[in-house]
Amino acid sequence: MAQTEVPVSKSLLVPIDDIAEGVRGLRIGFVNVFGVTRSDGSWTLIDAGVPFSAGLIRSWVDKHFSSAPSAIVLTHGHFDHVSAASELGDHWDVPIYAHPLEEPYLTGQKEYPPPNAGAGGGLMTLMSPILPRGPVDLSKRLRLIDASDNASLAEMPGWKIVQTPGHTPGHISFFRPSDKTLLVGDAFCTTKPESFFDAAIAQPPELHGPPAYFTSDWSAALQSIRKLAALHPLILAPGHGKPLAGREVEAKLATFAKVFARDAENDAKPKAH
Ligand SMILES: [Zn+2]
Ligand SMILES: [Zn+2]
Repeated sequence: MAQTEVPVSKSLLVPIDDIAEGVRGLRIGFVNVFGVTRSDGSWTLIDAGVPFSAGLIRSWVDKHFSSAPSAIVLTHGHFDHVSAASELGDHWDVPIYAHPLEEPYLTGQKEYPPPNAGAGGGLMTLMSPILPRGPVDLSKRLRLIDASDNASLAEMPGWKIVQTPGHTPGHISFFRPSDKTLLVGDAFCTTKPESFFDAAIAQPPELHGPPAYFTSDWSAALQSIRKLAALHPLILAPGHGKPLAGREVEAKLATFAKVFARDAENDAKPKAH
């Protein structure tokens, strides 16, 4: 089917192995998807890529996993995280989970606000008015997660759902206390988000705010970054950029939260750092 055709160069496909116990990822162009495997071998796909990436994700799954996932879980509903969800959900016949506040954007009822084309500069910002914002309709398979604090998902034992609104109203991250691994979605990035295409080539991971052109509530985004910093993670796996691990992660994130807060005070719409 046309949906599985590949406009993304194969050179932009980068497997990200061994992020943490049972966590591996795939970078497709400028965005990552992750697979989180349980001890019994069943697993969950976190996020579902840009348009036309279903075939790429399926090939990666066939190579690295012994079965289909038991669910697809979305950190939020932006096009670069959900575009293959419908096709993959149908192919594997699995539910697609998201936060209730993302539901209107995932059921064709509502579109995200127009991107802020002036934010941050760079190619992605220039492109942002033409990037698809929806509507996406996953209603057939969509299941809403429990939106209370410290909720978890039966398919992801050992992981806590962390509500991290700001980038979008129902943005969520995932934290595994046993090894302090944090899947951050777009709550923040480890690459300069307004120049993903340059950054995808070669750049050491460093912390940056959420993609500015799409972030709707900066004070909530700041609170969410503080909330994630307070978890003292040791391993970070972001939606954009490379994973980061080690003892310095905790301090880096704490410093970043302060810098982000200072920028937010000086400018209602913080630029990338
Ligand atoms: Zn996003
Ligand atoms: Zn994104």
